[in-house]
Amino acid sequence: MLLSITTTYQPATDLGYLLHKHPDKLQTFKLSFGKAHVFYPEATEALCTATLLLDVDPIKLARGGKNRNFNFALQPYVNDRPYVASSFLSVAIAQVYGSALSGRCKEHPNLANQPIPLKAHLPAISVAGDVSLVARLFEPLGYDVALTQIELDAEFPELGSSSLFSLTLANKVPLQTLLNHLYVLIPVLDNEKHYWVGEDEIDKLLKRGESWLDTHPAREEIISRALKHRRHLTRQALAQLSEGSAEDAETGDSREDQVEVTLGLHQQRLQAVAKILKESGGQKIVDLGCGEGKLLRLLLQEPQFTQILGMDVSYRSLQKAQERLHLDELPTRQRERIQLRHGSLMYRDEKLAGYDCAAVVEVIEHLDADRLRAFEKVLFEYAKPKMIVITTPNREYNVIWPQLPASQFRHPDHRFEWSRAEFQAWATNIAARNGYTVRFENLGPEDANVGSPSQMGVFER
Ligand code: SAH
Repeated sequence: MLLSITTTYQPATDLGYLLHKHPDKLQTFKLSFGKAHVFYPEATEALCTATLLLDVDPIKLARGGKNRNFNFALQPYVNDRPYVASSFLSVAIAQVYGSALSGRCKEHPNLANQPIPLKAHLPAISVAGDVSLVARLFEPLGYDVALTQIELDAEFPELGSSSLFSLTLANKVPLQTLLNHLYVLIPVLDNEKHYWVGEDEIDKLLKRGESWLDTHPAREEIISRALKHRRHLTRQALAQLSEGSAEDAETGDSREDQVEVTLGLHQQRLQAVAKILKESGGQKIVDLGCGEGKLLRLLLQEPQFTQILGMDVSYRSLQKAQERLHLDELPTRQRERIQLRHGSLMYRDEKLAGYDCAAVVEVIEHLDADRLRAFEKVLFEYAKPKMIVITTPNREYNVIWPQLPASQFRHPDHRFEWSRAEFQAWATNIAARNGYTVRFENLGPEDANVGSPSQMGVFER
């Protein structure tokens, strides 16, 4: 199995820096299913090609292939898997070109993000289904696609064509972008994965598809194939994709931040939540819709909290949380207290069970009102921690902010903002339906008529 990547960017040998592989060396990497070799058939200033040769061990495959259906006795040993570009190649890309796939390049950090002329050549691909799929996948991403059907044997043309194709893709993109496209789309063409596909596959898919998948015209087909047509995974991935992108569109310098900045309001809100969680005596805390981890930071400072989980639908936010909390640098004992998880509050998740308390800070107003019932089920019926703290803006207070145009929400992604009466009615109903009591508190400076900027419901059972 081969993947060749060629550039004519000058000096073309910079490809070696981008891939973290020196053009003068042959390098070999051991993988669980065989070996990967990287070498450069051509490396000049004008043109440079790096080839990844994947030498899949067919015996290992045959032994690991207990679950596959074989049509004839020798098929475990005689099949196209060692030759045809497939999920093996994606795994090899991740392991051998991992830095390039993540856009890291120590020597030339800017080059990693720079669009450069690139050609990827895959001498053998299989296309499950209609062959127009190749163009439908790659052309919307800007590639020139050259596809040739391979003859079974050039010496005996009467034998006709094989079912395999040779594919060349040309585009001007950062190398990272090309590698992410290949990583996701090669197994999509092949319509097969050599490993069990579970929920963590959604995370990989959304991470590698981050900047392009949500706007791809064939995104549903891509997701469905990438997740081996498992319907509930596909549905979940599509939901996370659209929720994630809505949120990602507006992080950081949002109107909400600008409006509330004068009060340090958000910090007050988070401190109030952390205080209540501490007073509850709970030790295991989950922060749902944790965003960039501002509450998680406070929770980490409190030794009472021995197990902390932050979950969010937005990958970008989780990455920021990981960086801001310096999770990679924490000593092991601290690191073991905290986990981040990519997921949606709309879907039942076993990993949310067993926590003492859940915090949902300024999140519900981002959920479509008709999905609140799903959220209720996930949290109050299935996860059911002993305490749930929910905060949400108090719409009545908006009149106090001169910056906020009348009848506008504090954040463009808010689906609603509730008055105190509306929030309390909703919360009281939920509590009654699920065996919780609920009490309410104002959050932030209080105005006699309109209350506080934010409101909090504390549910206990
Ligand atoms: N709780 C954080 C962030 C609030 S912003 C804080 O107080 O700082 C709202 C967050 O909810 C965003 O990070 C957004 O990605 C997340 N979110 C929106 N819809 C979600 C869903 N369905 N599941 C999980 N998180 C969601």
